[in-house]
Amino acid sequence: MHRQHGSLPPVASSRRGVFAEALAVGLAVGHAMRITLINMFRKPVTVHYPTVERPVTDRFRGLLALTYDKETGEENCIGCRLCEFICPPAVIKVEMLKGEKRNYAKLFILELYACEFCELCVQVCPTDAIIMMKSFDMATADRREMLLDKDRLHAIGLQHQPSWATGNRLRDMQAPPKKVVAEKAAAAGEP
Ligand code: SF4
Ligand code: SF4
Repeated sequence: MHRQHGSLPPVASSRRGVFAEALAVGLAVGHAMRITLINMFRKPVTVHYPTVERPVTDRFRGLLALTYDKETGEENCIGCRLCEFICPPAVIKVEMLKGEKRNYAKLFILELYACEFCELCVQVCPTDAIIMMKSFDMATADRREMLLDKDRLHAIGLQHQPSWATGNRLRDMQAPPKKVVAEKAAAAGEP
């Protein structure tokens, strides 16, 4: 068989392949060693949680909780069940207790292990009774600890810092600006 003009003999060509491969491996090992050396002298980034807690961002929204009225000390929940109706995975169960002046939640259960943290329950709550906290701190190996009743939800509300978002604040943000509403009312001749 005749060799084509300009091509290397098979032995020389395979030698060149071996050298190229050895060079590539050598460069890869050198690169990996360089990264290892850089990391050996880097400051560790591991945080010794829970001894050390990392600060969360201003808008962080985590665990759900129930709140008390700061002035009267009364429960804010009026048992209206709006949060139960809006919850996509149906993890909230509320029973209303009718009172003379206002209503209460006789029963409030939240299955946190199945919660999607979508915040819809917070957004619809008329009394800012259910809110999210600036904490995710509830690691457990026992699912039953994440079945939260009214007392546990209130305790979480007292234990952690609340997030900035409440139902009323979120609804205010979504409402049309007051100036536009006033202009429309003036154009319609309303007082
Ligand atoms: S955050 Fe969403 S999924 Fe979780 S309880 Fe509220 S509505 Fe349900
Ligand atoms: S938490 Fe809010 S939305 Fe849910 S039952 Fe109580 S008052 Fe109604």
